[in-house]
Amino acid sequence: MMIVFLFCLCFFLFSTYFYWNVNFKNFHYTRVPILGYHNISNLFNISATRVKVEAFRGHLKYLSDEGYHCLSLAEALPYLGKCSDPPQKSFVVIFDDGFQDLLVDAIPLLKSFRFTASIFLVTGYLGQESRWDVLLRTHRQHHLSSSEIRTLLGDGFTIGSHTVNHPDLTLLPDNLILKELIESKEFLEKTFNIPIHFLSYPFGRTEERVKSLVRQAGYRAALSQGQCQRQGSPDLMEICTLPINVFDGNFNLENKLTRNQFFWLEQIKIICLNQFSRGTPLIKPMKRV
Ligand SMILES: [Zn+2]
Repeated sequence: MMIVFLFCLCFFLFSTYFYWNVNFKNFHYTRVPILGYHNISNLFNISATRVKVEAFRGHLKYLSDEGYHCLSLAEALPYLGKCSDPPQKSFVVIFDDGFQDLLVDAIPLLKSFRFTASIFLVTGYLGQESRWDVLLRTHRQHHLSSSEIRTLLGDGFTIGSHTVNHPDLTLLPDNLILKELIESKEFLEKTFNIPIHFLSYPFGRTEERVKSLVRQAGYRAALSQGQCQRQGSPDLMEICTLPINVFDGNFNLENKLTRNQFFWLEQIKIICLNQFSRGTPLIKPMKRV
């Protein structure tokens, strides 16, 4: 029995490694790791993107203890597209969706470690429930309001666009993609009187057609997750982030930051979890607000 089990385990590991080697080995990752979070909360939901408060505190403590230096996305930008050397042990934190519960634990914890972050906002839902999302708990999450965002900007946090309605952009025609990109950018620039340079793709999804429209809409860089550019020089319209999820302890964080010998397992995990998020636009097609 044990021999059969070991055989199955070896077969599973070998086939997973082979699959990784063919499909994901050549992904371009930035030299400054970008850690991608969603919400930090102890409230139960069945989403893989929720990170518990203690786990998040552990990640920040690990980064601080190991001498990592937190950069804002704007500070990291010169190192994302070029080969120039970034400061040693630097990293970036981003939050997609801009949920209000960031104010409870995530932001105070980041401040206590003197770290910063960029928050990507769904502009059609500021101050409202996340009706674009599949309901995975007893109540919907709320998005940050304009006044809460103003306070965060005053505290040195930065913001970017996560579109107006959070659609999978790869499923939309060109005119609707441009509308999502331009309306969200202009809204944030007008409301907060700051330039908006960064986009984070909803569900991490993009393709060549979408990337050229992002460029046309005037963004300087756009972030993806779960799928990354495979060849050529680094493309600022497809910056590959490292999603951090419910299963990630400090060991996993270290694998992702250092891209060590276990990184391929982390990549497989990221790609598997990203497949689940692709179900959302199918279950809940985009409704414009
Ligand atoms: Zn999102």
